[in-house]
Amino acid sequence: MKKIAILTCLDACLVCTGASCLNAWNNKSKRFAAYAGENVSLEAFFHCNGCGNDPEMDKGMIEKLDRLQNIGVETVHIGVCAVKQETGVLCHVITQIRDMLHSRGIQTIQGTH
Ligand code: SF4
Ligand code: SF4
Repeated sequence: MKKIAILTCLDACLVCTGASCLNAWNNKSKRFAAYAGENVSLEAFFHCNGCGNDPEMDKGMIEKLDRLQNIGVETVHIGVCAVKQETGVLCHVITQIRDMLHSRGIQTIQGTH
């Protein structure tokens, strides 16, 4: 079974239930469309630890990424909320987390719903 996780912006979670992410997952639509008919499992839904945080030095974030690795997550989808609306560029903290995931052999895909 292919194991998937979703990474989102902590700020967005102040106002977002994650419903659009989960709706897209449940219906295998939008950025999850490629999994239609596949044996896949959503194993985790996690967030960055906030602006100004250095993920490389953050024991909590390292623990989260270790956990994903230990449970065998293959791919992390990065939520649309991790892209800065003003610039259209991926948040630099999320970029660091993405690189940390890659160094653990976990691939990332930008986009959820
Ligand atoms: S670091 Fe980036 S992704 Fe995290 S809360 Fe701040 S803006 Fe959102
Ligand atoms: S990607 Fe959309 S639904 Fe998912 S956590 Fe971010 S704002 Fe919410």
